[in-house]
Formats: sequence, structure tokens, C-alpha cells
Amino acid sequence: MPSRDASTDDTPGPRQAPARPELERWDREVVWHAFTQMAEYEPLLIERGQGCRVFDIDGHEYIDAVSSLWCNVHGHRHAHIDAAIVNQLSRVAHTTSLGASNSTTVRLAKRLTEIAPAGLNHVFFSDDGATAVEVALKMAFQYWRQRPDPRPQKTSFLALGEAYHGDTLGGVSVGGVAKFHDLFAPLLFDVKRVPPPRSYRLPHGVTVETALNHYLNQLEAVLAEHHEQLAAMVIEPLVQGAAGMLMHPAGYLRGARELCRRYDVLMIADEVAVGFGRTGRMFACEQEDVSPDLLCLAKGLTGGYLPMAATLATDAIWQAFLGRYDEGRQFFHGHTYGGNPLAAAAALASLDVFESERVLEQLPAKTARLREHLTRLAELPHVGDARQCGLIGAVELVAERESQRPFDWRERRGWQVCQHARRRGVLLRPLGDVVVIMPPLAITLAELDQIAEAVEGGLKFHGSGCR
Ligand SMILES: *Cc1c(COP(=O)(O)O)cnc(C)c1O
Repeated sequence: MPSRDASTDDTPGPRQAPARPELERWDREVVWHAFTQMAEYEPLLIERGQGCRVFDIDGHEYIDAVSSLWCNVHGHRHAHIDAAIVNQLSRVAHTTSLGASNSTTVRLAKRLTEIAPAGLNHVFFSDDGATAVEVALKMAFQYWRQRPDPRPQKTSFLALGEAYHGDTLGGVSVGGVAKFHDLFAPLLFDVKRVPPPRSYRLPHGVTVETALNHYLNQLEAVLAEHHEQLAAMVIEPLVQGAAGMLMHPAGYLRGARELCRRYDVLMIADEVAVGFGRTGRMFACEQEDVSPDLLCLAKGLTGGYLPMAATLATDAIWQAFLGRYDEGRQFFHGHTYGGNPLAAAAALASLDVFESERVLEQLPAKTARLREHLTRLAELPHVGDARQCGLIGAVELVAERESQRPFDWRERRGWQVCQHARRRGVLLRPLGDVVVIMPPLAITLAELDQIAEAVEGGLKFHGSGCR
């Protein structure tokens, strides 16, 4: 055997692993990060995770208190989910769901219908929260044209102010966060809107006691005026996430469901953020005994492992799409990777873990601990509101508590608090001046204490006028 000389060998060998400064430079100059001002971006290179902790390239340890952007559920490197993916990988990584299927994906669809609110018996898979919403919008639109008593004039949508439903153009159209969405207005379709139902910063003359009626009356007024044109109302149940964790007055979701039924408008529940245990129940809709017509799931679906989304629909909607091929009633929509078997294997394993580790049963102790911490943080001088729904906590910073006057947004107080926490080993991402605490459901009480301590340190330092 002639010895192989590396310098003349033309088979591609493994590339030299780049050194850290090089990786950081590429991360600043080549990778275009989501929702990030790249001119100011400071790299943070996460190398690995274990449980509710992640480790950066230098081995620094952080608690993942933002669940890797609201999607991780059972922690990182969960043995059962890891094994399920490896097992699926030994069979096949991907096959199409356009006109064909895969046994893992079929099993997941069935399992989702078993745990979803009643009546949602059909599952359309896509890849992200935004696509789950696009699918729901288009299904609702097509449904009204094709149902037995067609109502083709129902082409428009109703959404809440400050809503966030993803960044594709349908999702942006029903979205209402000015900072993200206004720029794209010329590209969007028209949407009817009601003010976001909230529990803090109530409108003048509205109290905590009258808030529910106030917001439902506003909703009814819009439905009464426009229901003939409305295909569906889109709603983030209980908590409007990206808006800054705005929390509905109790009863709003159920009231909205009843109004939608009365005015013959479909309800699309976007549980992309609040689904899979975040609010304390598997789905937020369960908290108010609501079954929507369409349910959008994504983030936590695979336990936060792989991109996958699902849009669940009722029998009535499904039936409106049935017919002979030449009638052209099928749903004209699809994504290449929709229903990906690796992701489906992760999702099935995540649902197994919910059962085997009794994840939902463990939550009350954790939400109680979070409540204790938020109650304490609420007393700090620049905290206007500290609100909670299940394992979602939000601390809103204000310049002045009495008047609820916000800080100048350019001061980036929320961001400063999170940077402070990061230096103490806790990863958080704020929404403006709202510091969000949204750890994996697997978080321990001790880890919750550590998160709260880091947030408290940051609030004391950056709330108090220090910059
Ligand atoms: C994150 C989110 C989306 C978008 O999900 P992506 O997977 O980021 O596309 C949609 N709706 C809600 C409520 C979300 O929080």
C-alpha cells in the first residue's frame, strides 16, 4: 500500500475546526440573526445543553429561563426524546406527506386528536408557528366557500390589537405589534381589530371588575357590525405573548368563543406559545372549557427539539373539503417538510414524557414558587406589574409606578436587566420593558429561585436609574 500523502490527497477531508474568534466573526458577519440589530450583535455561542441548562463555547453555564424562545419543555438532552429521534433516524429521516405518509407521523396525528380540546379530529402538519397560522387562515377562508351553505362573502378576519401570529405575511396581517408589523402594511390584507383585553394599563374608567364586560362588549360590537364578512377570529388564548405577555381578564376566551358561535364566525386559537403545559394545563383553551374550530400548535410540540407545527380542525371544516377530485375542493396548501417523521418521533416522545413524568401534575408547586417570587419583585420601585399565568411570568418595568409611565424605550431597561441576569448565569429575553420568565416545565424549584434572584439583582440595579 503506498502511503497517502495528505498534501497530494484530493479526497475532501474534514475541515479544520475554526477557532473561536473566527466563529464569532462569522456569527456577526455571516449569520443574519432573527429580530436582531446585526450592527450591535454580540455573539453568544451555545455549544451544548443538559436539562434546563445550556453551556457556551467557553463552558459557562446558564439556566435556559426563556426555554430557547418558549419552545423547550422537558429540558435539553432528555434521554427518551433523544432515543426516539435516533430510533426514527435508523428507519428514515424524511418522506413526503403529499399524498403519502409515515407511520410515526400518523401515530402523532392520532395522539394529538386524543389530547386536544373536543371536536378537533383532523391534523394538518407544517413546520413553524407562522405556517400553522397561515394554514388556519386559508382553511377558514376556503371553508366558507365550500361548505354546504356557502358564504363566499366571509373573506375577512378579526384579530386582537398587539397580536402576534408569526412573521409570514398572513401572520403579519393578523398581527398587531406596531414595531414589527407597521412597516409591512402595504403588503398586508385588511383585518378588523379589537383592543387587546388586558389586566394592566386598563383604559380610563375601566376597573379590574369591569374589564371583562368592557372587552367583551367591544368584541361584540365589532362582530355585530362585520360578521357577514368575517371568516374567523384569531386569538392567542389567555396570554398575548410577544405583545409583552398581556393577560386576558378571566372569562374572556370563553366569552369570545360564545360570541363567535353566536355570530357564526370561526375561532382560530393560536396556542403556539401557550400550548403544551405553559399555562398549567396541556392547552390554554382547557382553562376556560373552550374548543376552537381551528387550533394552531408549534413551539412546544416536539418538546423544543425540531421544527414542526400542526393545525387541528373540526369535522365540519374537514367535510367541506371532501369531494371528487374534479370538484377541486382539496386544500391547496403544503410544505415540503410538513409531518417530518423525525420531528413526529420527537413530538410523540415528548407526549410520552408528559405522561411518564407526570409533568402537568408537578406544575402547581412550580407555579406557586414563581408566584412567591413575582409577589416579591412586584414591590420593587420600578416594577409596574408582575403578572403570571402558569409557568409564564412577566415583570413590567415603568419609570413611575403611580402613573404607569413607561421608560423611554431607547433606554432598553428590559434588555439591561436581562444582560445583568446573563452575567449571573441566567438566559432571558425581554419584550421591550417586560422581563419574561418562561422556563422549561422541567425547571426545578431551586432553579426557579436562581432565576428570580438574577432578575431581582438586575431590577434593583437597572430599575433604580443606574445605566
Ligand atoms: C412564536 C409564535 C408564532 C410563530 O411561531 P414560529 O415558529 O416562530 O413561526 C405564532 N404565534 C404565536 C402566539 C407565537 O408565540
